[in-house]
Amino acid sequence: MDDTTASPVAPEGNALTARGLTKTYGSGDASVTAVDHVDLDIPAGVLTAVMGPSGSGKTTLVHLLAGLDRPDSGDVWVGQDQITALKDKQLAKVRGRIVGFVFQGFNLLQTMSARDNILLPLRLNGIERDDAWLDSLVDMLGIGRELDRKPFEMSGGQQQRVAIARALITRPQVVLADEPTGNLDTHASAEILSHLRQSCRELGQSVVMVTHDPTAASYAGRVLLFANGRVDGHITDPTPDAVLAGLDALAGVQR
Ligand code: ADP
Ligand code: MG
Repeated sequence: MDDTTASPVAPEGNALTARGLTKTYGSGDASVTAVDHVDLDIPAGVLTAVMGPSGSGKTTLVHLLAGLDRPDSGDVWVGQDQITALKDKQLAKVRGRIVGFVFQGFNLLQTMSARDNILLPLRLNGIERDDAWLDSLVDMLGIGRELDRKPFEMSGGQQQRVAIARALITRPQVVLADEPTGNLDTHASAEILSHLRQSCRELGQSVVMVTHDPTAASYAGRVLLFANGRVDGHITDPTPDAVLAGLDALAGVQR
């Protein structure tokens, strides 16, 4: 058998796998390698936090993992689907059905109500609406009064909750969230983080969450420390103190 023709396979039990993932912006002297030959094994059923300094490439990383952006080189698997090998149309299909994304800037459609924003992934992917699930998300996130409002009529925290509901409405296997609690108060973020952790444990969902908040990170089963486009270490079963110590230890990097 000729090994060079065998298609690579992701390890069983991984929700997300990356090998040699690299993304550079710009060219020449102005170029920035935002993600630099990253290998990742994100197990299924675990809440993973990604922490690191501003500009270290966290947003770029989660966009690549979700198939929202293409790497210059390297590969990503969602479960056993090698999404970097897919054409755009197939990629959109896989992404719509099995990946939920919470954007750093929410990315809600301004002309649509919160309800329509939340339901949009179902429409786009031909998935049947489950009103009981919608109700339970609305309850958990406390956005019942916002459903008929448009994003510009809501606060940042309310928009963030709507964006979280939109990411969860399809019950995706994998949720990628870029600072999902950045605009929420302590109580609201604790509630959402508990829910995310619970759905990882009980439903085998996998969540990868970028955060700046050591308390938020302490809800995770594992924290990845990211610096200069690379994984610089990880902390298992983190406490807020362990996370702070890990951030302090990031070699030569300022927080
Ligand atoms: P983080 O989320 O950790 O703050 P980002 O992934 O947003 O980091 O950015 C990593 C690096 O890539 C930064 O130096 C940033 O300026 C650069 N960068 C990000 N997006 C772009 C882009 N679209 N064009 C050019 N440079 C970018
Ligand atoms: Mg970012």
